[in-house]
Amino acid sequence: AAKGAGRGRFSFFSEKLLEAVNERKILEDDLRDALDRNEIELHYQPLVKSTTDKVSCFEALMRWNHHERGPISPGIFVPIAEETKLVLELGTWAIRQACHDAMSWPGKVRVAVNVSPIQFADPNLPEIVKQALKSSGLHPDRLELEITESVFLEETTETEEMFASLKRLGVRLALDDFGTGYSSLSYLQNAPFDKIKIDQSFVRGSNKPGSRNGAIIAAIVALAEALKMDTTAEGIEAHDELDWIKSLNVSQIQGYIYSKPIIQDEVLGHFGSGEWKIEPEGPALQRDD
Ligand code: C2E
Ligand code: MG
Ligand code: MG
Ligand code: MG
Repeated sequence: AAKGAGRGRFSFFSEKLLEAVNERKILEDDLRDALDRNEIELHYQPLVKSTTDKVSCFEALMRWNHHERGPISPGIFVPIAEETKLVLELGTWAIRQACHDAMSWPGKVRVAVNVSPIQFADPNLPEIVKQALKSSGLHPDRLELEITESVFLEETTETEEMFASLKRLGVRLALDDFGTGYSSLSYLQNAPFDKIKIDQSFVRGSNKPGSRNGAIIAAIVALAEALKMDTTAEGIEAHDELDWIKSLNVSQIQGYIYSKPIIQDEVLGHFGSGEWKIEPEGPALQRDD
């Protein structure tokens, strides 16, 4: 009987596994056509200067509106795009689209685009960025590339050269999801980041009594200030979180409390109505284009 139950359980699991594998294959195939089908779009979420509540930047966040399944979260499709290298094509599209969209925003508002470690390892990345800036006309200082610590997993001369090439283009670099990876201080010592984005896991519950998150955020802010980098706290949802984060002198705040990611038309609407004021962040721009 035990043997029978075991076998039954095994076949139940293998069917589930088969289903998952098929499901994954379907998504992978559909993702190959998603750009051509116009199913991919960028939504934009504001980063707000914590001392003035004014908008300084928007993060571009990719969305997939599947023709049958509806919206699929980047948490699901980005890993598939990375494994299949489709992220190279999607990522190039995102950089170009974001630069183009940012040209319709008030003059000093930046756009931040997420760059996958797969893209970061692609020697063509600097040329792709350069072309996107050129064809859109966006000032390089208005483009920020968000990179996670995973690009340091294999720290090679290629990694260093990629950082140098991107900096030479004049774009800004942000270290995304700081605190969730290895968070080695040597990354900060060597890599030319302009901003550290503090992962939302440190924000959740940071205001609760006994939480150590406040101390951790304060330490990250002190470190960033000493290294002349900006800081952004991600994922602020509640007023008590906002008050607490502001007291820790984080430079920018990003979270549902200000806005969820929205489409370009809504961004333009908010600026058009005067509802959103702008506040440049970081060093002043050289040119006003
Ligand atoms: P991320 O770069 O860390 O982006 C921040 C995520 O936090 C976004 O999730 C955003 O919608 C979410 N978020 C912002 N404020 C709040 C808040 O107050 N509460 C909560 N609970 N969440 C908040 P999203 O859009 O689902 O993206 C997830 C991840 O997918 C991103 O994390 C990024 O790693 C990746 N991703 C998104 N777009 C792209 C892209 O164009 N290229 C690449 N390579 N990765 C992307
Ligand atoms: Mg990001
Ligand atoms: Mg992040
Ligand atoms: Mg994240």
